[in-house]
Amino acid sequence: MKYYVDEHIKNTVRVFPEQGRYGYHRYDMNENPEGLPKEFVDEVLKEITPEFLAIYPEPDRFLHKYADFIGAAYENVLTTNGSDMAIRYLLETFGEKGKEVVTVSPSFEMYWVNCSILGLKHVPVAYEPDLTIKIEKILEAISGDTRVVVLLNPNNPVGNVYTEEELERVIERAKEVGAVVIVDEAYHYFYDRTFLPYALNGENVIVLRTFSKLFSLAACRLGVIISNPEIIHYVKNARLTFDVNAIALLFGERILDRPELIRELIRIEKEGKAWILQALEKEGYECRDCRGNFIFVKPKHSAREVANRLETEKKVLVHPYGNELLKDCLRVSVGSKEAMELFLEAFLEVDRQ
Ligand code: PMP
Repeated sequence: MKYYVDEHIKNTVRVFPEQGRYGYHRYDMNENPEGLPKEFVDEVLKEITPEFLAIYPEPDRFLHKYADFIGAAYENVLTTNGSDMAIRYLLETFGEKGKEVVTVSPSFEMYWVNCSILGLKHVPVAYEPDLTIKIEKILEAISGDTRVVVLLNPNNPVGNVYTEEELERVIERAKEVGAVVIVDEAYHYFYDRTFLPYALNGENVIVLRTFSKLFSLAACRLGVIISNPEIIHYVKNARLTFDVNAIALLFGERILDRPELIRELIRIEKEGKAWILQALEKEGYECRDCRGNFIFVKPKHSAREVANRLETEKKVLVHPYGNELLKDCLRVSVGSKEAMELFLEAFLEVDRQ
């Protein structure tokens, strides 16, 4: 043997996101296609001085502000390098090698990727053929070996949501077997209901939020874990000392300082989504509000072919699926009405021919 490699890492097959997306019209990764207002970005950049860059990041000021923003305490919140890192920390802290993690599948792939890396057994729960999720199937999948249950609310990509009663049943079942429940609320603000009170007041519930979606900071990598102080304490033990950079924290803080900016981002994206859904329906397309900053549309031609042609002929990026249940659809991120007009024009030209 040349050298030792962890067998789980060695056997994990990764597919990394496509690069070279600058200059394209990006509707493929649930970012904000247009980003934050330029004046706001310029204003914040002025604060980045040599001193600012020389100092190790200090997350506490952001954390106090964020806790106030969601009506929680400092002890309830922890920043991460995007939700991506939150998922890694949580599975490291509450997962147990060889034991189980239950998620709906297909969903955000970093859940199963991290299970694979960490040697945890991923237990996928399938959608029904009509793309609904049966809570009974999730409950049945939870066994004495389950350490973590993951619910995406709303669920990427299909947009299913859970009721409070359904969540409570999952929480109770998870408690019986000594598991935590992660509720990933990446698309909060597009779907207003939240399970935050369960995370703040409960024993085994964790909510994840990200600044990559509505707040349009995917490049900075800023996520927040919200839970009770005991869970936050354990995750802090697992964290890297300077895992979130100061530029991300600064931008996050300045967004929280500007409630009118947040209201405007919500208004613009909701308007864009309502507009594109109506416009596609008027053109005779089957589409679906996935309750996040994205929709599904079923093209008349092969979804993968339409995605390829949009990319090569129109410089428009959308997300096709290989999965049998979703292979006829394209996932399209939403932005302003103008961004959606641009998408529609390109889409109609490609799909008509
Ligand atoms: N959770 C869900 C449900 C997501 O869809 C995504 C991104 N597509 C993430 C987490 C990752 O967010 P971040 O950019 O904060 O890592």
